[in-house]
Amino acid sequence: MRSIKTKLIAIYAAVVLVVMTISGTFILVTVRNIEIDRTYSALRSHAIMINDHIVQQYRSVDFMRPSAWAALEISAYEIEGAILTEIGMPLAPETVFESGIRFNDDSLAQALTGSEAFTVGSLGADLQGVEHHQWFTFAMPVSNSDGDFIIYTRLNMRAMNDILSSLTFTLVIMVLVALVVTLVFWFFLADTLTRPIIALTRHARAIATGDFSRQIKIAGTDEIGQLAQDFNHMSRELRATLSRMASENNKLEAFLQNTSHGVLVYDTAGKMLHANNASSELLDGMNLNSSEAHLAFKFFGFEPEDVYQLRPGEVRESVHEEPDYYLYACITTYTGERGDVDGYVIILQDVTRQQKLDNMRKEFVANVSHELRTPLTNIKTYAETLLDGAMEDTETAKRFLKVIEDESQRMTLLVSDLLELSRIDSKHVALEMDVVDLVAIMRLAIRQAQIPAEQKNQTLIFRPTKTACFIEANAARINQVVSNILSNSIKYSPNTTQIKITMETTEKYYRVFIKDQGMGIPADSLNRIFERFYRVDKARARALGGTGLGLAIVKEIMEEHGGRVYASSQPGQGTTMVLRFNRLPDEEF
Ligand code: ATP
Ligand code: MG
Repeated sequence: MRSIKTKLIAIYAAVVLVVMTISGTFILVTVRNIEIDRTYSALRSHAIMINDHIVQQYRSVDFMRPSAWAALEISAYEIEGAILTEIGMPLAPETVFESGIRFNDDSLAQALTGSEAFTVGSLGADLQGVEHHQWFTFAMPVSNSDGDFIIYTRLNMRAMNDILSSLTFTLVIMVLVALVVTLVFWFFLADTLTRPIIALTRHARAIATGDFSRQIKIAGTDEIGQLAQDFNHMSRELRATLSRMASENNKLEAFLQNTSHGVLVYDTAGKMLHANNASSELLDGMNLNSSEAHLAFKFFGFEPEDVYQLRPGEVRESVHEEPDYYLYACITTYTGERGDVDGYVIILQDVTRQQKLDNMRKEFVANVSHELRTPLTNIKTYAETLLDGAMEDTETAKRFLKVIEDESQRMTLLVSDLLELSRIDSKHVALEMDVVDLVAIMRLAIRQAQIPAEQKNQTLIFRPTKTACFIEANAARINQVVSNILSNSIKYSPNTTQIKITMETTEKYYRVFIKDQGMGIPADSLNRIFERFYRVDKARARALGGTGLGLAIVKEIMEEHGGRVYASSQPGQGTTMVLRFNRLPDEEF
């Protein structure tokens, strides 16, 4: 890892290097330029001096005279000066003349054309002709009475180059020293800068792993100190926000897990994100892989294409049907931060009860209409036949009127049964309860059933308990219960059979058993005979005058009294109906 510390040091080293190099180069160039300027002036003044002291003072034949040059050499002993002919051949001084040197450079070429010139860095041999050196050269055309000449002066560049290289060396050493000092300085200084940053990094990492317990120590009020302070503030806020969110989340989770509604949540890619307990209970035993969104959508009766086009807030509903089970499903979308659809939520609800009640209601209305239509049709037909002339024949007329009377009676009974049921259903009027003796009620009901039983030559045998059985009840309703059951026993048993009524007392209950020797009830109908309008053999029951409401009323009244009714039967051998009543607590006597 390239740490911030190494980066800082590298940047600083680079800056020092660049600054020092630029300023070093600038110094070198300046020194060189100053040196060149100085040399130019020196060469020129030397040339002027040669002109003044020799060319203008002597005849050309005397140019070589050493005494003439003596004064010059003292003033500029390093500068070599010479007088050349107008075509550039050396004339004087003696040393130059004798060396046989031929000067040849740009300044001379320039002077030959008539103007003075200065060059830097021309190559040329020294007077001994041994070594070649770099020179500053200056050439200047002059003339006296003997003709035209060129004064040529030069200076070896070695002196300036020596100065420049020792200066370069000094500068390089300076750069190196500056670099080392900078590095050392920064090595320690960078730590003071990076330490708080490293601390911040550690702190941020701790926060990322959920550890909010630390606070950064704030040293100073500079930018980094400010940053640390803001960081501490941010971590406190973050902690508070997170704990608020966690609590919100827990609330939601508790709600989701404890609601009776099933909740399935999918994202837009169809991945299941959530399924609460209720949803698994509601979907228990169903052939559905609910983790696949499109399978789930189809299962509940939604078109996946339609679901994927749902806009925020839109809802689709459907009811999934299984045998004896109805599941209501409602699908909607949920949105993300920017308000676009982030996924789908399916809410499930078991509506079997509502659906069954609804079905029962429809069935009930259909049954009532049907039961009323049959006698009404009969009455209408017989009345019409009478009007069409059957009235003339007194015998027929009597028979027909009897049918009309029977059918009206049947309707009256049906309507009163329906009223009774509707009274119980609406629960508007609470029953008036008294403490009554069950044995007495039984006796009365049995006495009332005596006449229809005798018509069929049936015997009613009653074996009551020895003592009275007090219950809290509405005597008239209990009488109705017993009468309904006895009327069934009489109706659905052949002539000359016995109907035996017995009683039993247990710690909590009184039980009444009404046992006949009739046709019995098939096992699969035993539970259903208490439903409204249910008859085992519709045609036969109707012929016997039944509408299928008797036992429904019995069941409702027994439940109103906190009791129960159930049946057991051996088809072909007889039926036993059992009534169970709660005993009164002893202290009430
Ligand atoms: P209602 O009593 O309203 O005049 P119902 O007798 O047909 O008409 P329920 O008393 O509710 O109606 O009885 C329902 C059905 O149960 C009857 O139609 C009959 O098929 C059957 N059932 C009831 N009691 C007996 C019984 N003791 N023996 C045989 N079948 C019975
Ligand atoms: Mg009946």
